[in-house]
Amino acid sequence: MVIGLGIESTAHTFGAAIVNDKGKILSNVNKTFTTEKGGMNPSDVAKHHRKYADEIILRALSEAKIKEKNLDFITFSQGPGLPPSLVVGKEKAKELASKLQIPLVGSNHICAHLEIGKLLTKTKDPVFVFVSGANTQIIAYESERYRIFGETLDVGMGNALDKFGRDINLGFPAGPKIEELAKKGKYIELPYIVKGMDLSFSGIVTYAIQSHKKGIGKEDLCYSLQETCFSMLTEVAERALAHCNKKEVLLIGGVAANKRLCEMLDKMCKQRKAKFYSAPLKHCGDHAAMIAWQGMLQFKSDKNFLDLDEIDILPKWRIDEVEVSWIK
Ligand code: ATP
Repeated sequence: MVIGLGIESTAHTFGAAIVNDKGKILSNVNKTFTTEKGGMNPSDVAKHHRKYADEIILRALSEAKIKEKNLDFITFSQGPGLPPSLVVGKEKAKELASKLQIPLVGSNHICAHLEIGKLLTKTKDPVFVFVSGANTQIIAYESERYRIFGETLDVGMGNALDKFGRDINLGFPAGPKIEELAKKGKYIELPYIVKGMDLSFSGIVTYAIQSHKKGIGKEDLCYSLQETCFSMLTEVAERALAHCNKKEVLLIGGVAANKRLCEMLDKMCKQRKAKFYSAPLKHCGDHAAMIAWQGMLQFKSDKNFLDLDEIDILPKWRIDEVEVSWIK
């Protein structure tokens, strides 16, 4: 049996996890940097990760009941992400791989989101609708790469909902509150912005905030914001599905918690005789098991391991630049 340890440190979360090559998650220990007020200062986040890294790695080993010497490889999030956070993961992974004299594998964080989604839903070759705070991308595997068929031209879907929520005093994160309020709303027209296969949310949010200032009720705006943005996502997902001739759609990222979005995508899939899946919510955010599993796929298929002296982080690593060696 092959066993690997994965380290996540692209942004606010530092995590370590152990998986085996049967796709079993043996441990998944994660600690997220939080603040009472204000945003994330990257150097504070890196300090947090450095403080807890060793303890988290030891806990991942002990919870999995695995000894260091039984590990076959180490993998870490090489990018994309915040450089100060990424560096901590790289240093820890390098330290461990060099101490144990085992291969070091660099994982792409976005790819890891897709692959853990596939593992947990048992999907084979879906169109991915990836909607988190900062990301909104429609992705599918074509010609040996994960290709981005459509993406946001400005903010991610989650951040767009949070911005609207902040302006109308719903607190953070606003997504779940918007979903609740939407249940009591009715439709008012908002701008609908799909350009080719790409989407734009910031103009819609500005329009909705202005409409609120003019006296339109929160419920109607929440409902209309959801209907408009989710229809845009559904339209692009449908076109990607038709273009790639695929039969599955997999929704991943924190916004996958939204039942209305699931309902719209499910309905579209049924009309196209495709199947809709949503990744389990506890695996939608950032965590280390997805990195460990991504590393496992690469370890088993690709023998080009990273050279410990040359290894570096890739803060802007796009998913379509990843060489997908593990899908045959
Ligand atoms: P990223 O990984 O892109 O940097 P993140 O880690 O903040 O961002 P996630 O944890 O994947 O992203 O998702 C958080 C986002 O999901 C928030 O913007 C939040 O408002 C949104 N969200 C959570 N629940 C719901 C819901 N029920 N409906 C809509 N949006 C939701």
